This record gives sequence, structure tokens and C-alpha cells, in this order.
Amino acid sequence: MTPLAALQQYYGYSAFRGDQGAAIEAVLAGRDSVVLMPTGGGKSLCYQIPPLVSGGCALVISPLIALMHDQVTALDQLGIPAACLNSAISAREQSAVIARIRAGTLRLLYVAPERVLQTQTLELLKEAPPMLIAIDEAHCVSQWGHDFRKDYLELGALREHFPGVPRIALTATADERTRVDIASRLQLDAPSWFIGGFDRPNIHYAVRNRSNARPQLAAFLTAHRDEAGIVYCMTRRKVDETAAWLSMQGFSALPYHAGLDARVRQVNQQRFLREDAVIIVATIAFGMGIDKPDVRFVAHLDLPKSIEAYYQETGRAGRDGEPAQAWMVYGLEDVVRLRQMLDESDSDETHKRIERHKLDALLGWCETTTCRRLPLLEYFGEQHQVPCGNCDNCLTPPKTWDATEDAQKLLSCIYRTGQRFGAGHVIDVLRGATGEKMRQHGHASLSTYGIGAAQSAKHWRSVLRQLMVRGVVLADVERFGAIKLGADARAYLRGEVALDLREDLAETRPARERRKPVPAPLGTPTSDLWERLRSCRKRLADAQGVPPYVIFHDRTLREMLDLHPTSRAELLAVNGVGAAKLERYGAAFLEIFGEQEGTH
Ligand code: ADP
Ligand code: ZN
Repeated sequence: MTPLAALQQYYGYSAFRGDQGAAIEAVLAGRDSVVLMPTGGGKSLCYQIPPLVSGGCALVISPLIALMHDQVTALDQLGIPAACLNSAISAREQSAVIARIRAGTLRLLYVAPERVLQTQTLELLKEAPPMLIAIDEAHCVSQWGHDFRKDYLELGALREHFPGVPRIALTATADERTRVDIASRLQLDAPSWFIGGFDRPNIHYAVRNRSNARPQLAAFLTAHRDEAGIVYCMTRRKVDETAAWLSMQGFSALPYHAGLDARVRQVNQQRFLREDAVIIVATIAFGMGIDKPDVRFVAHLDLPKSIEAYYQETGRAGRDGEPAQAWMVYGLEDVVRLRQMLDESDSDETHKRIERHKLDALLGWCETTTCRRLPLLEYFGEQHQVPCGNCDNCLTPPKTWDATEDAQKLLSCIYRTGQRFGAGHVIDVLRGATGEKMRQHGHASLSTYGIGAAQSAKHWRSVLRQLMVRGVVLADVERFGAIKLGADARAYLRGEVALDLREDLAETRPARERRKPVPAPLGTPTSDLWERLRSCRKRLADAQGVPPYVIFHDRTLREMLDLHPTSRAELLAVNGVGAAKLERYGAAFLEIFGEQEGTH
């Protein structure tokens, strides 16, 4: 069987994506390789297909037990014999797996890194050597990365234990130092490199200015009813409160953070995986090892730590290649708070400088007025020229205005009030507010008092935020919440630098995002059919205790909707329908279309 034939027969996909085909050829030719692809790029096929083509078993080293289990479930659905060895399985299951290894009937065996080098495991594997060793999440071997695992350091020894067996290391981390570490620490022999593009064209990026986070979020979610997604918050408390509030608004929202009881976490995660349209509200404790392909949106209520972190977190959306949304609100408070947290942290100066640099890059990205995707990809070392056409700035180019004079007014007001006050008071002075604090400090007699009265407080906050992002105004660490002038403020004060700023979008009614997963409005025959396809899938999934997407992806259901298959051959032509799934589920789905024919 050729690799392409295996792809079609087992997975029901028509063509390889990106470097998949080449990576598979390298393995089949017995070469070592490193595969870099973004999340959702299709790394797993690179090691799953070779044993289907040439027989034998691929040994897969994977750090997350939950993920191993999910993969085995998915492979089982595809009719590919697979199993895992880890601490989570019972002694009885374990002997069954060992028997299958000895009998040589497995095509894929998943093992945890700490397990694979135990003498017992090694002896067993040497009885029936693998045809390939795949090291998933290979960046875990690097101390530079954030996921370093000590067990990974030992994996280089596999070279000696299984001489001649090709090894393939896979990761979604692009960092240069990490790449070098992977090849050297794992002792790969002159590996072939497959470095895929990092673009995730199906993800739409949008950043909004925070005016009132909850209604903004509710409007966004209303435009995405019936879809599953993740809402990230910075603190556990905010997670709890947001989840509770969303539930009250009628969304199925569940909290997830490290402070919750392990059982509650487990239940919430299962519901997110198995039910349709569950929203998980989480800290970044959630996400690693979640392989759900149909996460339709990732929303950030707080800024992530860096562009890298943002890309990783939003990358959890749309692994199935279908349209997905990365949505974020952010505001002045984030800028102040994050800068302050950094200044106050007790890490050393070098570390702080790096972190500051990362934060600045992210803030600058938030304020950018041109395509959002190009700078993201540039951050990962990719140069693209053409704006993407699938981000907020591309679709609705933001207006900019000459803010030279407003900047002068604001900076001068900060200066006149002694660089001792917070944003609120400075803006009050600008706008000529009255009240106790004004009187107490005698600020009504300042030359800057009331010079900004023509504009709203919101306007001034926007100016201030953008000046802070540029480092023209700084948060004073010593005086909590106070703002002061930065080093370049002088030039702006004198009006020597022309300044164009971004006009914040006025938040209106629910922003209707372009796409709807349901191809027709509810109540039409097509949407009725869509619902029947979905409930058929759900029924089949529930009967086996697996998530619906392992039966068929949304994309597959949508293709069915377009093609109206009425025979087995027609159903087999649908993307994502392979031989095993045709056998198992063909009849159930064909019946739906059969009835449909009858009623017309
Ligand atoms: P990664 O491990 O790189 O995050 P996966 O291997 O989980 O990505 O693949 C992501 C999704 O894309 C999976 O649902 C997979 O079935 C699908 N996929 C992979 N390769 C192809 C292909 N050649 N054609 C269509 N779908 C694919
Ligand atoms: Zn764009």
C-alpha cells in the first residue's frame, strides 16, 4: 500500500497537507527527521501512516497520558490497532497490551517517556522492535522551552537501544535554540528537517478595546451560539465569576483552574469534549493536552504573557481547519497592571528585561493598525507580504487620527499635576471635573485644567493607553497606580513628533462575525438536516462513550450536507470517511439521506 492509499483508506482524506508526505517518505527510507508544524498542522499522521504502509509497529513517546488515550480512541475508530502503556491502565489491561506487542499485532504503541527506558519495557520492545520511534512534543527536551521534562533528556539513549530504527521528533515550537536542542539531545543522525509554515489561515484574529468586558464577551458569544470554545482569564477568581455570570446569561459555561477539585476539573473537561457547544472558562492551566479539533473560538479577557503564549493559546482553536475565532479584549488597566507585575517580580534584571521586551511586543501588536497575521508570523521567523484578509484590521481597517496635539495636552497635564496621580485624576483635570480632590490639590487653577473638556474620558483613556504602550508614559512602581513621563515624552510635549493614533471601535450591538457553522438559518430544511446529522453523531458517540468528533468532524458532516450521499460509494467520497467508519456508521448516516430523499 502506498502512503496516499493508506491516507485515503484509513482516514478518508484525499491528499497530504504540507510536509506530511515528505516526512513519511523520510521515515520509510529509514532516515531520522524533525517535523515542525503548528498545532493542528497534522503531525500525528507523519508517524501513524508508515506502519500502515510497511507493517510493524510505531513506538510513540508522548508526555501526556490523556492525549495518548485520546489518540488510541481515535485510531480505534479508524480501525487501526493501537494501545498505550502508562501508569493509568490496570494490570490486566497491561498484560493484554504486552501480549499484543509480542504478537506483533499493534500498529501504534504509545508510551510515556519515563516508562520507555525502564529495563522491563526495553526488554519487551527488543523482543519485537518498533519500525519507527516517534518523539512527540519533542521541545520538552529543551531547557529553553517552558515545557522542559527531565525524562526527555534520557531519550537520546534510544539510538543505542534500537540501532537502525528511524526516529522522528515532532513539535509545534519554532524557537531556534529549541530546534538545535532537539536534534542534538535526542542524538538524531543527520536528520531531515521538515519545517512547515506556521500560519493558521482558518483562524481569524480580532482585538477589541475593553469598554465593558462582560457585555462585550456576551455579544461575542451570542454570535457563536452552538459552538464550543475557551475563554481565558488571568486569575482563578475571575474564572469562577465569569463562568457563573455566563451561566446566568444562559450559556453552558464551566470553570477550569488548578484550584478546583480534581474531580470537578475532570468532569468539566469531559463535558467540554463530549457535549456540543460547551464553553470552558479557564486559566492557562487548561489547554495542554486538549486535542479537541472543533474548538471554534478562543477568547482572552486578559492579556496573555507574550505573543508566543498568545499564539499557542489561540492555536487551540480550529485544529480541524474549519473557520475559528481568536478574540481578545484589552485596555489601559492591562498595560498598567502587567508592567507593574513585571517591575515588582523578584526575578533577576536580565530575565525582567526579556519579559518586558516580550510584553512590549505583545502590546504593540494589540495596537497595530495593519494586518495582525503578518507580524505574528514574523515573530516566528516567517516573512509574508500580502495582508491576510482574515483579521479585524484587514476586514475593517481602523481609522487613525492626528493625535499630536492631544498627546501634548495629556503629557502636559501629567507634568503639571506632579506625576503623582493615577489615570483617573489626570483625565478629570483635563476634562475640568469638579469635586473634593480637585479642590484639595488646587488643580482647578492649573493651566491644563479643562483643556480637554471637548473630548470624552474614554477618548483620553485611549490616548493614554496608546502612549503607555509606546513607553511615552510610564506607570510609577513606587507610587501605586501613578503615571509619569517616560524618556521620550519631552519630544512629544514639544510637539516635535507627529503622532497618529488608532481610533478605538465603538462597541455596538453583537458583532456579527461572518461565519456560521450551521449553513442555513434555523427552521429551514437544511438546518433540520444538519441537526439530524449532529444528533446521529452524538448518539453514536454516546453509545461508545467517546467525543462526537472522533466519529466524524464537523467538516465531514458539512460535506455530507453538501453532497447528499445516497450510496456507500458516495459516502466514501466524503472527506473524513474511511473504510472502517463506512462500515461502522455508513448505514446510520445513509438512512438520514434516504429519508430525506423520500420526503422530497
Ligand atoms: P497536530 O498533532 O499537528 O496538532 P493532528 O495530527 O492532530 O495535528 O491533526 C489535526 C487535524 O487535522 C486532525 O483532526 C487530523 O485528522 C486532520 N488532518 C491531518 N492531516 C490531514 C490531511 N492530510 N487532510 C485532512 N485532514 C487532515
Ligand atoms: Zn490580516
